[in-house]
Amino acid sequence: DYNAGGYMPVNIGDILKGQYKVCRKLGWGHFSTVWLCKNLLDDGIPTYVALKICKSAQMFAVVAQDEIKLLRETKSMDPTHIGYKHIVQMVDTFKLISVNGIHTAISMEIMGPSLLHLLIQSDFRGIHLNGVRRIISQVLKGLIYLHDVCHIIHTDIKPENILIKVDENYIKSIIGKTERFAELGLDMPRSYVASDCWVDKDRDDDLDRDILSKYEEQRGQSYPYDKFLGELTDFRRRHAEPRLNAPMWVSPNIEIKIADLGNACWEDHHFSSEIQTRQYRALEVILGAGYSYPADIWSVGCMTFELATGEMLFSPKGDKEPSANLDHLCLIWETLGGIPQYITERGTNARQYFANGELIGIQKALLRIWRIEDVLVEKYKWKRVEAIPFAGFLESLIEPDPALRFTASVALQSQWLNMND
Ligand code: ATP
Ligand code: MG
Ligand code: MG
Repeated sequence: DYNAGGYMPVNIGDILKGQYKVCRKLGWGHFSTVWLCKNLLDDGIPTYVALKICKSAQMFAVVAQDEIKLLRETKSMDPTHIGYKHIVQMVDTFKLISVNGIHTAISMEIMGPSLLHLLIQSDFRGIHLNGVRRIISQVLKGLIYLHDVCHIIHTDIKPENILIKVDENYIKSIIGKTERFAELGLDMPRSYVASDCWVDKDRDDDLDRDILSKYEEQRGQSYPYDKFLGELTDFRRRHAEPRLNAPMWVSPNIEIKIADLGNACWEDHHFSSEIQTRQYRALEVILGAGYSYPADIWSVGCMTFELATGEMLFSPKGDKEPSANLDHLCLIWETLGGIPQYITERGTNARQYFANGELIGIQKALLRIWRIEDVLVEKYKWKRVEAIPFAGFLESLIEPDPALRFTASVALQSQWLNMND
């Protein structure tokens, strides 16, 4: 996608807008690439920022303008609100010109890995329940701010879009590695320029070997790995560089923020009728019954289960429309022990999937009712005393009737979230 209308070609070391030095790649999405940049000016803007550089084609420019409007709103509405600090804030916005066209750039406060990285790091076994509580409380505070104060629906709550805060030393340490390459006069490895910053668990060790092999290649002679590792360790100590996969991500004081307002919309002005990533998509969205703030809460429910167990609550088979929706509806039915008939009669797609409150073409005997409480006990081997309050909390977040579903502020007061174990 690095072509006309696509991503902007960016190199490590480039200075953008005469101000932002590109240090390494943080991530990418359908619309943009995101870079860790150092601000070279003393102008009130933080030293390190994440710079989102959007694709240049007109349609991406339009989406970027909507995102900027939403980000401006969240930045200015009420900085004193308890949820304000749980939304990734925009710092600056400007245009960049490249061979591929004109790109909208948005600089944002810098964050670390996402909750998806956290799940990967847990080997998809999930994280400790107190950690889940801490994370979900903060997500809910962020949503209270978005919903009640800004009147914004996020529409894409999922682990990838919740980012973990890391401190400035940690950011520096990531750059420290880049500098090590520069010091040795080596090309940057692919992971610095091409792929995601935090993904691979064993990446650190691979990288060390990568540095060494390039070093040897350029010197034309071999160099003992142990000696090299010793020097590298020394270097790391000098730069106070922690391991990239240091357990600080899961520290008890973990702080998170909601990111990616690129798909968000106003409560009274939607941009699309089909919203959300499949696995986190609310029942009313599947049925085409209209949506509002409760759609975000449904996604929080799915994400809470995933953080606690390491596995998705709903992962429907297939991507093609009627069959994926039907499978999704079956999974929801089995998990909730049924869907009230009045809900199955609402929405422009409802009659495609339901007749007389029953799923069309699905024999009742084939549905296996498996409530969350029992899934936790039978599949994940939780103690029933732990499973009961957790399942109660989750069922209030994936309540089929959006009008009865917990709001973010009610969920924040819930019993399970305020327990401790
Ligand atoms: P999508 O396809 O999800 O809509 P997008 O092009 O809108 O993608 P984002 O989701 O905003 O882009 O960002 C892409 C990735 O960049 C994120 O998943 C995250 O890994 C990283 N990223 C985004 N913002 C920040 C930030 N403020 N700090 C650190 N990393 C970030
Ligand atoms: Mg995203
Ligand atoms: Mg986006």
